[in-house]
Amino acid sequence: MGRRISISATLLAVVLVLPLGAAGDDRPGLVERTRATLATLVAFDTTNPPGNEAELAAWARDSLAADGIDARLVGPPDADGRANLIARVPGRSKSKKPLVVVAHVDVVGTEGQAWTTDPLTLTEQDGFVYGRGVIDNKGMVAASIEILRAMALSGKKPKRDVVLLLAADEESGGTVGTGWLLANEPDLLEAEYVLNEGGDVRIVGDGVAYVGLQTTEKLSYTFTLTADGQDGHSSMPLPNNAIARLGAAVADVSVLRWPLRTLPTTRAFAEGVAGSLEAPMDTTIAAVAEVAPGDPVPKVHEPTLEADPFWNASLRTTCVPTMIDGGTRSNALPARATAKVNCRLLPDEDVNAAAALLSETVEPHGVTVTFNNSGKVSPVSPEDGPVFKAARAAAGDVWPDAVVAPFMGTGGTDCRRFRTAGAACYGLLPFPLTADDERRMHGTDERLGVDDLAEGTLFLQQLILELSR
Ligand SMILES: [Zn+2]
Repeated sequence: MGRRISISATLLAVVLVLPLGAAGDDRPGLVERTRATLATLVAFDTTNPPGNEAELAAWARDSLAADGIDARLVGPPDADGRANLIARVPGRSKSKKPLVVVAHVDVVGTEGQAWTTDPLTLTEQDGFVYGRGVIDNKGMVAASIEILRAMALSGKKPKRDVVLLLAADEESGGTVGTGWLLANEPDLLEAEYVLNEGGDVRIVGDGVAYVGLQTTEKLSYTFTLTADGQDGHSSMPLPNNAIARLGAAVADVSVLRWPLRTLPTTRAFAEGVAGSLEAPMDTTIAAVAEVAPGDPVPKVHEPTLEADPFWNASLRTTCVPTMIDGGTRSNALPARATAKVNCRLLPDEDVNAAAALLSETVEPHGVTVTFNNSGKVSPVSPEDGPVFKAARAAAGDVWPDAVVAPFMGTGGTDCRRFRTAGAACYGLLPFPLTADDERRMHGTDERLGVDDLAEGTLFLQQLILELSR
C-alpha cells in the first residue's frame, strides 16, 4: 500500500503542477470522467464470443455525438450485434495525415474463474478497481473516449485529425473488427501514426521503472503433429500405438530450446531497462544488452533468464504443446492422434527451419508435422522517431524517473495488420502495472490501481496531444 499512498501525492502534484493549456484544461475532471466511463463500459457484457459490441459502440457514439463529435458505427452488415466505432476530431491541416488511436471493446469470458467481485461491475477495493476488461482493453477505451472529448471541447483544434477506432472482435481473430475495417475503411491506413494496445508501463518496486513502446511482435505459428496407427480391438494391442508415439513426440518437442539471443529491438529494450530492474535481473539484463544482435547470450545467464517467463519468451523462439486429441473410444486402438504445438517465432526466425527442426525431432516416433504458412513478417515501426520523442515528453510529465524503450511483444496484436499495410504502429498499455497484476489479464480479479488508472490516462492524453500538435 506504500506505493499507492506515495503515488497519490505524486499524482496530485502532477495534476496540479502541469501547465493547464498543454493538456486540456481539466485534468482532475478528465480522470473522474474516465473512471465513470470505465464503469459504464465494464457493465456492457462484450464477452467474445459472441462479442455483442454494438450496444457499447452505440453508447459511445451517442455520448460523443452529444458533445458534437463526429462518430459512426461500421462493420459487416450481416454481423448481428457487432459493430466498430470511428470517431474523428478534425485537425487544422488536411495535408497532415491523421493520428489513429485503436482500442478494442470486446473482452474474454470469466467462466470457470473464481472472481471475488462481479466482473461486470466496476468495484473499488483497497485502492484498485476490479472488473473484466479494466486492463484489456476497456481502460484504454475509456481514457481514449474522454481524451477525445476533452480535445473537442477545448476548442483548440489539433494540427492533424485525431481518429478514435473502437474495434470489435480482437479477442477472437478480428474478422469483424480490424480485419474488416482495414479492408473496408482504407482511410484508416493513411495514418501517420497508429497507437494500439500491446506495450507496457512497468512498476518495479515502488515506482514506474519503464515504458515499453511496442514496435514489433513475435509471430505465431501453430504446427500439427500427427501419428497414424493401426486400429483394432484394444484387447489385442499392436506395436506402434498412435497415442503412445504422439506422446513421446510431444515430450521431445517440449524440451527443445532455441538459442537465447537479441534483436535490435530487444537489445535496445534491455539496454534501456536494465538499470531499473531488481537484482539479480539488473546485472543479467545489462549483460544481455552487451550481446550483439545475432550472437547467443552467454550460457552463464541461461538459468536466470529461463526462470523468468517474460525474458525467456522475449529472447528466444518458443514452442509449446497446447492441444491434444486421439482415439475414438476406450476399447479401440487409435487410428490417429494429433497435437497442436504453438510456436512464437522471433520476427527474424525462419519458419521453415523451425518446421524442419520439429520434423526432425518427431520423425523417429513416426510422427509428421504440418503447418499453414500464413504468417507474415511485418516491418518494425521506427524506434527513434517522433513517437519516441513524444512518449519521452509525456512520460517525463507523469513518471519523471521512467525510461522509455522500444519493446517487442511476445504476443500478437492488431499492430501487425497496420504495419504490414505500411502504417507506423505503436503498442502501449498506458496504465502502470506490476508483473503480477498484468498476469490477471484474461484471468481472475483483473484490476487496475485507482492512481494507475489516473496516471495512465494523463500519460495517454499527453502522448496524443504531443503527436497531434
Ligand atoms: Zn487486448
